[in-house]
Amino acid sequence: MVFEVVPIAFDSMGVRSMCTLVRAGDHRIVVDPGACLAKTRFGLPATSPEMDALTEIAERIAEVAETADTIIVSHFHHDHYGPNSNFYTQKLVIVKHPKENINRSQKMVHAPFFINRLRSMTRQMEFGDGQKYKLTGCTIEMSPAVPHGTSRTRRGYVLMTNVRSKEGSFVHTSDVQGPTEEATLQWIIDRDPTILVVGGPRFYVAGKLKTHLLEDAEKGLRRLLDETRVKKLVLDHHAVRQLEYRSKLTSVWEDERVMTAAEYLGQDNNLLEARRQELWKDKFMEGSELVPTDPPADI
Ligand SMILES: [Zn+2]
Repeated sequence: MVFEVVPIAFDSMGVRSMCTLVRAGDHRIVVDPGACLAKTRFGLPATSPEMDALTEIAERIAEVAETADTIIVSHFHHDHYGPNSNFYTQKLVIVKHPKENINRSQKMVHAPFFINRLRSMTRQMEFGDGQKYKLTGCTIEMSPAVPHGTSRTRRGYVLMTNVRSKEGSFVHTSDVQGPTEEATLQWIIDRDPTILVVGGPRFYVAGKLKTHLLEDAEKGLRRLLDETRVKKLVLDHHAVRQLEYRSKLTSVWEDERVMTAAEYLGQDNNLLEARRQELWKDKFMEGSELVPTDPPADI
C-alpha cells in the first residue's frame, strides 16, 4: 500500500504555507490548503516575484486539493485554509472547532464565515479536535487544540494531524512554533512519526522571541529526533523566514534527517520573503537604506 508525503507549498518554496499532500491507503489527504504573503516585511509590501510565486502555488494547491478526498484545516489563518476556494466541494473536511479553544479574530470573523460556507459544500464536515477517523487502509487522528506558539500566546490554537497506516506514521504540526510546549511534544512523540512536518519557532522578529524560547525549541526538536523513529523531519514555515536561519537551531539543522520542504523535494530553497528587502532594492531603491520593522502579528 502506498504511503507518501508530498510538500505542496511552504515558505522555503516562496510563500507562507504548510500545505502537504499525504497518500495513504486508498486516500489522498491534503493538510492546510492555503497560502499567503506577508502584508509587510521589513516595512515593505510584497514584491512581484512573491506575487508570481503565490499565483503559481495557489493554482497548484487547488489542483491537488481537487483530486483529494479529504481536506484538513488546522486553524483559520489565511496561510492555512483558503476560505474562498471551491475545492472543499463533496469532500470529507476536518476542521478545527470554530468556537472552542480559539482566539477572538478567528472565532468572530474567520471561522463563522468559513464554516457556513462549508456546510453547503462538503460531503461531510467534522470538528476534528481530539478525534480519530478510520478510513480504508489508514487512520487520521487529530490532536486536541494546542497553542499557536506558547501557552501564553494570543494567536489561539491549532490542531496537529497524524495519518498512519501499516507503512508509516506522518505528523503535521501546523503552527506550533517550536514545539516548546510539553503536551504538544508528548502528543507528537506518542504518534512515533516516520515523517514529520514542523512549523518551527518564530525567531525572525528581532527582539521578540526570548532566547530561552529558542533554546526550548531546539531542545524540543532534538527530543523529536531522539525519541521517535523519524526518518525525515521537514522544518519550515516560521523557521525559514530569515536568510541566516541555519545560524539558529544549529544542532537540529546539522542532523541529516532535517531539511526544508524544498530540500525534501530535491529543490533549491526559494526564500522570497526573507529576500524582500533585497528584491525591492534591486528594483527601485538602488543604494537607499531601508529600516526593518516588525511584520504583522496575525500570522
Ligand atoms: Zn502559519
